Amino acid sequence: MRTIILLGAPGAGKGTIAEGIRSSSPFVHVSTGDMLREAVKAGTPVGQKAEAFMKRGELVPDGVILALVEERLDKGSRDGAYMFDGFPRTIEQARMLDAILEKRAARIDRVFLLDAPRELLISRLTGRRVCRKCGQGYHVVNIPPRKEGICDVCGGDLYQRADDQESTILNRLDVYTRQTESLISFYDKKGVLVRVDSARPRQDTVAEILRVTEALTV
Ligand code: AMP
Repeated sequence: MRTIILLGAPGAGKGTIAEGIRSSSPFVHVSTGDMLREAVKAGTPVGQKAEAFMKRGELVPDGVILALVEERLDKGSRDGAYMFDGFPRTIEQARMLDAILEKRAARIDRVFLLDAPRELLISRLTGRRVCRKCGQGYHVVNIPPRKEGICDVCGGDLYQRADDQESTILNRLDVYTRQTESLISFYDKKGVLVRVDSARPRQDTVAEILRVTEALTV
């Protein structure tokens, strides 16, 4: 089993970079944010519990997140390669992930820290639009759809995530600084942290990460 983590502030590009890696490698994309949004949309008990936290830009309780992650790992993946995006977000979650992996005789191979300046994070988040139907991501300036408000891929409507409003964005960045940033030194001490500049065009960041993952032994 191979495991990598994409770590970085909201707007660092975790989702779009994960998409680029997924399409050129065996890593399956495990995004706790996507899983939670699906649960909210479907109105499941998990979704009902998570919705208010997400709207405020706060973290959803660890127990809910861990159950989602374990459920996903139990489903397995063809090549046994996982890429976590948006998880872990606290030291407690990182410890729980270590325990989950240990049970599976696995460990974290690399943690990629996606680095971008704060002004860029904010402009990426405020301009972000997502297809309601297929989840494809856009940006009003950087990655505009061919027809305003309409997805190029499936023709679905584009919308702005509830937590991409400016006041919530500032809270999410604050939550990242207070609760997630300490993971940088946690993983640095373990010797698995790789810093990657994610202010560049997405394909350059993806290529750099793929070079590292291709060198990982199974
Ligand atoms: P994301 O799509 O990763 O930006 O996540 C959107 C929201 O989902 C976050 O602001 C949190 O409310 C919630 N969330 C996603 N992943 C986690 C996690 N690992 N722990 C707690 N909350 C999470």
